[in-house]
Amino acid sequence: MPDAEARARIDAAIDEGFGRQVEFLQELVRFPSLRGHEAPLQDWFARQMAARGYPVDRFSIADVPAHPKMAPMVGVDPAGSMQVVAAHRPANPTGRSLILQGHIDVVPEGPHEMWTYPPYSATIRDGWMYGRGAHDMKSGVACMVFAMDAIRAAGFEPAADVYVETVTEEESTGNGALAALLRGYRAEAALVPEPTGHTITRTQTGTIWFRLRVRGVPVHVAVAQDGTNAIMSAYALINALYAHTKVLNEAAKSSPWYADIKDPIKFNPGIIRGGDWASSTPAWCEVDCRIGLVPGTTPEQAMAGIEQCVKAAATTDGFMANNPPEIIWTGFQTDPYVLEPGSEAEAVLAAAHASVHGGEMPARKTTAVNDARYYGLYFGFPGLCYGPKGEVAHGFDERTSIEDLRTCTKTIAAFIAEWCGLRPIG
Ligand SMILES: [Zn+2]
Repeated sequence: MPDAEARARIDAAIDEGFGRQVEFLQELVRFPSLRGHEAPLQDWFARQMAARGYPVDRFSIADVPAHPKMAPMVGVDPAGSMQVVAAHRPANPTGRSLILQGHIDVVPEGPHEMWTYPPYSATIRDGWMYGRGAHDMKSGVACMVFAMDAIRAAGFEPAADVYVETVTEEESTGNGALAALLRGYRAEAALVPEPTGHTITRTQTGTIWFRLRVRGVPVHVAVAQDGTNAIMSAYALINALYAHTKVLNEAAKSSPWYADIKDPIKFNPGIIRGGDWASSTPAWCEVDCRIGLVPGTTPEQAMAGIEQCVKAAATTDGFMANNPPEIIWTGFQTDPYVLEPGSEAEAVLAAAHASVHGGEMPARKTTAVNDARYYGLYFGFPGLCYGPKGEVAHGFDERTSIEDLRTCTKTIAAFIAEWCGLRPIG
């Protein structure tokens, strides 16, 4: 760890700037940066970083070379999906380089009347800030920016290159984080401050997105027996996929990483649409689904399993046997990722954590994905996923704990200081 006096100065700068940090997070939350609508936030963020003196690179997913791990983006234009990288480039870098990366896309907020406070109001009550994205993961974005600010305010700079990146698509494909890597930004470690509650993410599952497209034979409901009902056909496929998931979870009991988690593979039919008229049997139905996969399984295997399941279910149905349902791959085709214990980067983060919280840095296993996988799986440096504390990701009254923003910022600053090294400014 950096010397005690430097640490004390940095922590004091975090405390001194904390009001501004909370306001910065409120600004972030007030952007409804839903998928396909992230650009205004990214433009604002780029200006914020430019005002701090960083050179800023703003580019879209359409601006980077192709890569086999780019996932399909259905219904959204890659050319409009903006990424921002602010670079700290010291003269004659001596330390270890670092990527700090957060996603600023958020998931739909649902019916507003179910929220205690409007979802984009960033209301603060009793130590919590409420809002869609306040927790997942604009909180972590504010922490990484203000950790860098505090190091400067204390009179230091990281002695190595640091890229501060905000990306899109984390909630649907991961293509934003991948685009920044393909743009050329690489380092010796990456920290993704997802709101893990001050735990390191040891493992994450993979994810597959797909759409079921089912046809029906529309007839007047008075003679429903002469037609077919696409909604009910889709319902049969959904049930088959739940049964398939059950089988997968039986197999996952022997997973070295997930054996101690009950049913780590989650299947979810998340969007359904279909039919045109209450008195006609529906001629069409579409269901957007998500399913997980555990380490040891590839996305290709998981996708083949989905295809087999749907095919088998369709053959037992008189109509679908001759009119097979379609499967459209709509997003995530994600490998699971295990952060192998023992990396130097993790040791440095653990020491930073201990210096703020005391004791060991707990590890968690998540049954969802995050962007950290790209670094470790395809680009050869560890992706650490560790960040602040909040509640109700993707739900009503999503919120982040204000005090935990402060401790997380101190931990990240201590990590940057030790990983990159510090030198006095000027
Ligand atoms: Zn997230």
